[in-house]
Amino acid sequence: MPEFCDVALAVPLDMVFTYRVPADAAPVVGGRVLVPFRQQRMTGVVVELHDHEPSVATKKLISVLDSAPVLDQVLLRLARWIANYYLAPLGEVCRSMLPLMAEFKRAVGYRIGEAGEMALHLAGMSGSSARSRRSPQEQAVEFQVLDYMAGTSGELVRETTLRSATHASRKILQGMVRKKWLVREDLSAPQEANRTVKVALLKSVDRKLNQNQRTLVESLAGCGGKLPIEHLQGLAVPRTTLGTLVKRGLVEIAEEPADFKVSGARPRPSPFDFDFTPAQQSALARLRQAVEARSFSGMLMHGVTGSGKTAVYLAGMRAVLEAGRSAILLVPEIGLTPAVAADLHQIFGDEVAILHSALTDRERAEQWHRIKSGDARIVVGTRSAVFAPVGDLALIIVDEEHDSSYKQEETPRYHARDIAVMRAKMCNAVVVLGSATPSLESYFNARQSKYALIELPDRVEKRPLPEVAIVDMRLEFQETGHEQVISRTLASEIKDRIERREQVMVLLNRRGYSPVVLCRTCGKKLECNNCAIALTHHKREHRMICHYCGYTAAVPNACAHCGSEYVYFLGTGSEKLEELLHGMFPQARIARLDRDTVRGHQDFERTLSALNEGELDVLVGTQMIAKGHDIHGVTLVGVVGADVALGLPDFRAAERTFQLLTQVAGRAGRGQSPGKVILQTYFQDHYAVQYAARHDFIGFYEKELQFRSWMHYPPYSALANVLVRSDQLDDALEWSGRLGKWFNQTRHEGVRVLGPAAAPIMRLKRDYRYHFVLKSPSREKLNTTLRSMLAYAAQQKIPRTQVIVDMDALWLM
Ligand SMILES: [Zn+2]
Ligand SMILES: [Zn+2]
Repeated sequence: MPEFCDVALAVPLDMVFTYRVPADAAPVVGGRVLVPFRQQRMTGVVVELHDHEPSVATKKLISVLDSAPVLDQVLLRLARWIANYYLAPLGEVCRSMLPLMAEFKRAVGYRIGEAGEMALHLAGMSGSSARSRRSPQEQAVEFQVLDYMAGTSGELVRETTLRSATHASRKILQGMVRKKWLVREDLSAPQEANRTVKVALLKSVDRKLNQNQRTLVESLAGCGGKLPIEHLQGLAVPRTTLGTLVKRGLVEIAEEPADFKVSGARPRPSPFDFDFTPAQQSALARLRQAVEARSFSGMLMHGVTGSGKTAVYLAGMRAVLEAGRSAILLVPEIGLTPAVAADLHQIFGDEVAILHSALTDRERAEQWHRIKSGDARIVVGTRSAVFAPVGDLALIIVDEEHDSSYKQEETPRYHARDIAVMRAKMCNAVVVLGSATPSLESYFNARQSKYALIELPDRVEKRPLPEVAIVDMRLEFQETGHEQVISRTLASEIKDRIERREQVMVLLNRRGYSPVVLCRTCGKKLECNNCAIALTHHKREHRMICHYCGYTAAVPNACAHCGSEYVYFLGTGSEKLEELLHGMFPQARIARLDRDTVRGHQDFERTLSALNEGELDVLVGTQMIAKGHDIHGVTLVGVVGADVALGLPDFRAAERTFQLLTQVAGRAGRGQSPGKVILQTYFQDHYAVQYAARHDFIGFYEKELQFRSWMHYPPYSALANVLVRSDQLDDALEWSGRLGKWFNQTRHEGVRVLGPAAAPIMRLKRDYRYHFVLKSPSREKLNTTLRSMLAYAAQQKIPRTQVIVDMDALWLM
């Protein structure tokens, strides 16, 4: 056995740590070990075993957690690639690849220190010290703790035991550790995987329920009367509500096997119910051929909305499964509804593992074990499912590959689509990127023959794409004499549909009631305390809310700056739009879908299935309504404020607007009756609006590519955003200044550096923010420059967590 092992730990440092291997331990590369790190115990992944004694003293590892690798060779190679490409610490990369944290139980113990024994002794002689700044209550608790510890004859006492015996807060214990009265020890240890979950069972229903109780009971009833307790904690009701219901005998708590599935959604007709079009057949044939070749190939499947891409994916995955191999399907956050899960279970049975954001840590770990053991060979999931430990991977599909939820906005800031391509390369698999509105990067790559391009140009069953009419809102203002939210055209079309018993979707991509509160006397906006962002008025909650950090404030009667009573609520969000529509069409059944009405995936599913069953006439919502839903009764889509994004200082604004407009328009006319789209805009001449109205992706692509080429933006340049942040303005200014000077004084051939400049959102979540934008036609040069910048920052003692490198950044805000 080698004497040493290098371990990647999830700490913000760009290095691995060397530990000595005890004689009786047998760590494996790719397996986890428990090691001492600073004053605690941590788990890390072994990345190398060797015999080179480091120059500094090494500690021994505490124990080996896995006798076989949890990250196989390919995944470990992928981890190194990600750490290098995204300039992220390897340990943090490994942590996001492994959902196994739930199997590691954190625990802390204390023993009494010499200073503690002395303090107890002195207190016994003369009472407590009069000079202390602590309150008498705090002192009383401290002595109670010492007294308790003295009775344990120097033994280690677990924090939980100590706290329940003495009612000492964590803060008090921490203070005692600082005074060396107590010695703290980390007792964290691996935990036996718990194979059961606690579930709540609905027994009976009583009429006399309060609002919270009703919410809970309805959620249970909506899912077949049974839900894991952890899911109920996602509901906005107090924890005591469940206890009350149990006491009243309405709900019972029971244990279920951990792989218990949430039921409730009815499977829809099988996606194989209709005949494949020739285009679908040929796409499937090319996909199967590539898989059989057992070498890497990439495909971009560009299919208009409603062209049946999903059916091709599922048929391809079924073929892979029949060949005894594995496949991964990635979907955007919002794409994985219980209805989709029900479809997948119907097609793949127990061979499918589904990974979504509503899973608890333990459920996620359970799914991980099913995949690792080979019980589940088909994996469907959001972003991190790209790391699923499947064996013999044949196919990875990235559905809606342009979707921004594939980019992780915290360290490591990876893009799951790009990881999918890299993983497929490393294991000779096929990767398929699918979208009606491919990202500029992917379409560019297809044009450069990096990917094979597969086109699905028509909708299934020869259904036409919807007709799109643009309403110029400047003209609407001139003709009606006042600012309109819903134009006369849109209003009359909605009225028509309601009368014909057809359904309508209206998109306004901004939630809340009014996005801006303005003082007419001093002109100031009401801003968040933590961010340089206007607070949004939410009428139902009667609060002002920051959409970036969640800060809330009371709805003002007077200006916070000058005291004037002339405060005005301006603009329209989805909540107000819903109210306006109720006013205009009092007889219509209207619902809203946005982050305020959707608290859990059940709410989302409930609203969509109500629309599907014809129980709704109009659905209002944010971009949530634009994505992938296949509702046949919708014949009209109205877009209100289509161009909000076009006003943002962001080079991807046109691309995002084009994608959103095309996607939402794609919701119309998916059934027997043809669809229509009314697009209200203040920028009717903007090419993103014009090409979306004509369903002309290629036209948009060519035009946008010209702009990107002139401005040296992706796909012509690699781009990175470097953010320097601190809750102290002086630090943020000084650090970004120092880095700016360094960029100026050092030669970086072939790399353009812009900045430092205040970030467009200058303050966010209490941090002041400055940034640099770096562009280069050479990824390698860009990577080298950033790496030396980080080394310089470390040398200057700028904390690693305060300098964020975002490679291939999607947002420069
Ligand atoms: Zn004012
Ligand atoms: Zn905020």
